Amino acid sequence: MSRSMPPRVENQRSSESAAVEDYLEQISHLIEAKGYARVVDIAEKLGVSQASVTNMIRKLDANGLVVYEKYRGTVLTEAGERIGASVRQRHQVLSRLLEHFGIDPGTIHADVEGMEHHISRPTLRVLRILTEELNEDPKLLARLKKKFSASVE
Ligand code: CA
Repeated sequence: MSRSMPPRVENQRSSESAAVEDYLEQISHLIEAKGYARVVDIAEKLGVSQASVTNMIRKLDANGLVVYEKYRGTVLTEAGERIGASVRQRHQVLSRLLEHFGIDPGTIHADVEGMEHHISRPTLRVLRILTEELNEDPKLLARLKKKFSASVE
């Protein structure tokens, strides 16, 4: 019997595409808050230099993900918004699930920042369903939290 090939890993994204996703995520947040994203604000949100932001924005513009206008700020194209919204959603689902268990915010942030770029759609769906279930079932949440606390080594 021949063994079938393992499925191709689609979720292992490079660190460059993780960076692209982080930019689009933050630009999406800024646009929601202000209607546009300025280089100075993106730099602050991502903790990088304005020169780095300008370089990346030019790349994103060349790839059709944003429209960059020097004096007016950056807006997302439809393709850019789709990616930005998807990352924001991944971030939210993962954060909420961990918040249910009272993990400290610094740990949640660090873990979610990594996981949000690599999680597959089916796995995200599982975690979303789990999170929704925990929202609606305080008894289940209490039971799982108790197990979680008891499992500390
Ligand atoms: Ca991020």
